[in-house]
Amino acid sequence: MEVLYSSTREDLRKVQASEAILKGLSEDGGLFVPDHIPALEKSLRELSEMNYQEVAYEVMKLFLTDFTEDELKSCIEKAYDTKFDTEEIAPLVEADGTYYLELFHGATIAFKDMALSILPHLMITSAKKNHVEDTIVILTATSGDTGKAALAGFADVEGTKIIVFYPKNGVSPIQEKQMVTQKGKNTFVVGIHGNFDDAQTGVKQLFSDKELAREMAENGLRFSSANSINIGRLVPQIVYYVYAYAKLLKEGRIADGEKMNVVVPTGNFGNILAAFYAKDMGIPIEKLICASNENKVLYDFFRTGDYNRNREFVLTSSPSMDILISSNLERLIYRIAGNDANKNAAFMEALTSAGSYRITEEMKEQLSDFYGNYASEQETADRIKALYEKTGYVIDTHTAVASAVYEKYKSETKDGTVTVLASTASPFKFTRSVMDAIDPKYDSMSDFELVDELSKIANVKVPNAIEEIRTAPVIHDTVCDKSEMKETVKNILSIS
Ligand SMILES: *Cc1c(COP(=O)(O)O)cnc(C)c1O
Repeated sequence: MEVLYSSTREDLRKVQASEAILKGLSEDGGLFVPDHIPALEKSLRELSEMNYQEVAYEVMKLFLTDFTEDELKSCIEKAYDTKFDTEEIAPLVEADGTYYLELFHGATIAFKDMALSILPHLMITSAKKNHVEDTIVILTATSGDTGKAALAGFADVEGTKIIVFYPKNGVSPIQEKQMVTQKGKNTFVVGIHGNFDDAQTGVKQLFSDKELAREMAENGLRFSSANSINIGRLVPQIVYYVYAYAKLLKEGRIADGEKMNVVVPTGNFGNILAAFYAKDMGIPIEKLICASNENKVLYDFFRTGDYNRNREFVLTSSPSMDILISSNLERLIYRIAGNDANKNAAFMEALTSAGSYRITEEMKEQLSDFYGNYASEQETADRIKALYEKTGYVIDTHTAVASAVYEKYKSETKDGTVTVLASTASPFKFTRSVMDAIDPKYDSMSDFELVDELSKIANVKVPNAIEEIRTAPVIHDTVCDKSEMKETVKNILSIS
């Protein structure tokens, strides 16, 4: 059955998946949502005999119903290949009685790769299907992780170019090195004198610049965005929850129909929303445990029904979760408002104007699948150390937030349900925070010394993504002022 997509705000028009992927965001500012969540066609037993790519096809074909079998299979094949350092793509590792679903085996060793390795292919296929002949120019501002994952995903993908702006003095040395050494003749990386907000604001202005859009069109170019509200990023994320359950079943760690809990370290609410959709598709999921760091807007929301971004922004050791507006939550609000775009639009309007909104009791009752909690910086560091000392397994700071929250959940509820925890980054990506948590004595070592030390104590080979940048030449050295972003883009695209 066909799945169509419509906006969470006013526009009632329904579009095909390919159009939603090309557009990213609806013109009324809303997010595209599927008109229903399809049920899995294959049994969980059948899925348990499949590899990652086959499961991906079984899940994604149900959402991307205007893609042909060949189109979708070709996207999947190009995305989940040897860019991943394991054939399993997303291995499940048991430690201290919990199953860590390792989503960090792709090109940039963080979970963004799971979606950003396939998004470029979904996007150019969507362009072809909609007879768009322009070159697609991806424009992104990054505080570190997304930029590199998008660069790696789009590098040398025909019909696309990608330009990434980052704050010149606002990302970690390893993150900067990862970006400025990016290969691919269609990739462009620019440092700006300014902070992440300046980069973000500049990119938003370029997106809404009508004159620039016209000049681009004359030159056969058009902007698109790779950010996490695109359904082309959400749908591929459902796959690994289905895969994880199937794997538990295959290995006899769970019985037919037995439920599992899912714990997700959350920022923009994309990853956990994918788990919610997996549950709707028929995966037996008991609780969706939403873990926040000290920016605990979501914890407060699940507890009180009040979403309030008016608070101090805390810089933590899990920077990819330092977020006060979780954009993908809008899809859940829309759902619990009875798929009512007007009601949802009113909440979002309140969020923009007052920075907060409160849902009704009726809506709150529909959130019983979710459990929210948070971990402080100290609790996060303690969890890395405790797990390492007990099992030898080393987790990154984001994963540790989830793991610490899960410990709280267990002691509160005594729930013994089998639990899968989304492990969103390799500890090698946040080496300094991880090693500091294990022992303060590491503090004096350089970044790459720490990498080698981590490899030794965890007994894990240094990932290629890190090995490569030790010696890789710097390819991108463009730096500009925040007021020069438009000129820089025009230069890159050879628009006079
Ligand atoms: C982006 C990111 C998250 C948060 O995921 P959301 O889908 O935004 O909730 C968590 N951990 C890491 C390492 C990330 O890069």
